[in-house]
Amino acid sequence: MTAEEAAWAALDDALQDYEPPCDGNDLFTADGLGESARAECAALCARCLVSDLCEAFADAANVKCGFWAGHQYGNYGRRKARPVPSAEAAPPPSAPASASSALQDDQPDAPDE
Ligand code: SF4
Repeated sequence: MTAEEAAWAALDDALQDYEPPCDGNDLFTADGLGESARAECAALCARCLVSDLCEAFADAANVKCGFWAGHQYGNYGRRKARPVPSAEAAPPPSAPASASSALQDDQPDAPDE
């Protein structure tokens, strides 16, 4: 049995009696999530009881897409979700539009590895 097969078997076994928070959530299979969507997924993963097994499988399988155990995966590797900026971090209403757009969450950020 390969490491990938073993990791999948462990995850699949754990999922026999547990419905993870991502079940049925299309964000976990979407491409190009913005920062707020990644943070939403990460918050769900943070309370998931099988996150260790999920991450072990994602790494063993070298997945290239999807959101697994707090990370978005792609051809570049994996990207850890960052917390959503707080309201205090938002620019004041009189700030130039360019300053406001810099805080938009749809800009890709650098991989965390
Ligand atoms: S840790 Fe894995 S199984 Fe759990 S919610 Fe996140 S993606 Fe789903």
